[in-house]
Amino acid sequence: MSTGTPKGPSAPDEKQLYVGQLNTPSTDKVIDAMNGIFDRRFYTNHGPLVAEFEKRIADFLDVKHAICMTNGTVALMVAAKSLGLRGEAVVPAYTFPATAQALSYAGLRPVFCDVDPDRHTISVETVRAAMTDETTAIVPVHLWGRACDIDGLQALGDEAGAALLPDAAHAFGCTYKGRKIGGFGRCEVFSFHATKILNCTEGGCVTTNDDQVAFAVRTARNFHDQETFVDVPLRVNAKMSEAQAAMGLIALDELHTHIARNRERYARYRGQLSDVPGLRFIDHAAGEASNYQYVVFQVEEADFGLTRDQLIARLKDRGIIARRYFYPGLHQAFPYSEDHWTLPVTDRLCDSIVQVPSGDMVTDADIDRVCAAIRSARKDPGGSRPGMDSPGA
Ligand SMILES: *Cc1c(COP(=O)(O)O)cnc(C)c1O
Repeated sequence: MSTGTPKGPSAPDEKQLYVGQLNTPSTDKVIDAMNGIFDRRFYTNHGPLVAEFEKRIADFLDVKHAICMTNGTVALMVAAKSLGLRGEAVVPAYTFPATAQALSYAGLRPVFCDVDPDRHTISVETVRAAMTDETTAIVPVHLWGRACDIDGLQALGDEAGAALLPDAAHAFGCTYKGRKIGGFGRCEVFSFHATKILNCTEGGCVTTNDDQVAFAVRTARNFHDQETFVDVPLRVNAKMSEAQAAMGLIALDELHTHIARNRERYARYRGQLSDVPGLRFIDHAAGEASNYQYVVFQVEEADFGLTRDQLIARLKDRGIIARRYFYPGLHQAFPYSEDHWTLPVTDRLCDSIVQVPSGDMVTDADIDRVCAAIRSARKDPGGSRPGMDSPGA
């Protein structure tokens, strides 16, 4: 990587580094699995690989039911619709757009509440402030793989007659009080998008211990279901294909390896940046498992000397594509921005969180390069001498 000579802002031999976060399953295994699909000519409609994948997920998460779908957004949509929810759902605005959009699609009105400044997830306090007589669901997000206060929110939901429906898209393989995420609330929803820890290219899943919820979701995800016929408000084609399940099965076999590598990358970032004033990492909950899929931190301008956006611009000059996350907040984005929301903690996070490159494509040397660029941006906030620091200096 490093030639030892100073490089300009876009030296041609430095690859561009993207946030990506991709974990790639072994290609030869994927090709074998695809050949099996062609041999069987069983491409979709509850083929053997989807059945096996659902069983493996349920076993892994220690839940009764795993119902796979074409992606996480549709899985959340189908779950919300199948639960027969109407009225308002309290959700964070500090999340990926899918969380609120899926609920809107299912006919619910998302009501945004603020998040806890340390955990970045919604809390009993913030949810309570947003609840009305119309609230029928609470949809927390286990952001960055860190569980929300599930017990507190479940108790609040029980008290108000509102269903707890966590968006667990970030949290495959993570735990709450030692139990894997997946069995909490009425049901939980995962995403197996290419950028998530378990990569099916596209994919998603509803998990639950509730037989009735499982039957409803199974029925609703398909127009013709061989398995169950129960009354559901609406049906749709949300099926996972055999090709997606083939990827997922291999990704599940390799999950522990991906988590271990993520943890190493995360530790390398933290080790090199922990003494930099003004950078604040989110602590993972003590004693809980995480998948370490997201390397994010807050940039506090007063101590760091640059705003988050200035830091991102400086990294971009060096071929490092870091990302604002999440920006804008959903309360500031169409269609929800038509209403007025007061969410000061969310606003602060939207303005100060940065996500840096991670995932299988990012090497130790790449991380060293990103960290060196961050340190040099701080030492030289004016950016008057771009290109004078060689990578790793
Ligand atoms: C990725 C993601 C989703 C949506 O999942 P897709 O599989 O991409 O549709 C939902 N919520 C959150 C928080 C996500 O990060």
